[in-house]
This record gives sequence, structure tokens and C-alpha cells, in this order.
Amino acid sequence: MARVLVIEDDPASLQLLLYLLRSFGHVSLAAEDGEEGLEVARREVPDLILCDVQLPRLDGHEVARRLKTHPALRQIPLVAVTAMAMVGDRERVLGAGFDGYIAKPIAAENFASLLGGFLRGAPRGGEETA
Ligand code: MN
Repeated sequence: MARVLVIEDDPASLQLLLYLLRSFGHVSLAAEDGEEGLEVARREVPDLILCDVQLPRLDGHEVARRLKTHPALRQIPLVAVTAMAMVGDRERVLGAGFDGYIAKPIAAENFASLLGGFLRGAPRGGEETA
């Protein structure tokens, strides 16, 4: 069981992620914009953070920058959850400080193994996209 923070402004995506996390036995924490996400991260120091890239108030890249320069929070695996169609997005996301990414739409059947990999500190990388 892990404590996982989800930072996501789209209600349907947020509900799906929270549902999947709980169904796999994890404790989920939610934030709906980047500022709130940082506040919850500082307060709760979760085991893993799943973060949308396009967010109100602070976008995902800024959230990543601040988490990865924060002494107490930089070790937390940070995974981008985002719809990405363009070649090069993977490198951009990893270059911004994310430790990996999961592509939307979320494939429930892959989610548990992806999550397990990130919780074990799998090497930087992301979901294979076809
Ligand atoms: Mn968004």
C-alpha cells in the first residue's frame, strides 16, 4: 500500500485515477491545481505523485521544477499523466524533472504494473506508446 497524490484538474480523469488507486489498495490524495498540489505534497509527503501537465495556477512543469528543487520532496517519484501525441514530448517531460509518464487515456489494465514500477523506483522512462 502506498500513499499517492494525484494532481489533476479534469474531474473525470481525477475520479478515474482515484478509483484505480483505491481499487489497487492504495491511499489516494487529490489536488485540483498546481498550487494545491504543492501544498498537499509538503503537508503529506506522499510515496508517489501523479501530475497532469496542463494545470491551472501552476502548470505541471513548474510543479516538477519546485518539487525537484525541494530538499524533502525531491526524492518522491513524480509521474506526468498527460495526453501526448507529438514526438519529443517524452523527452520534454523527462527534461522538466518528471521521473516518467503515463499517457492518457489511462489504460486500466496497464495501470497497476506501471504504478508498481514507479513505486519501486524503476529507471526513468515512460509507458511505451504504440
Ligand atoms: Mn489538465
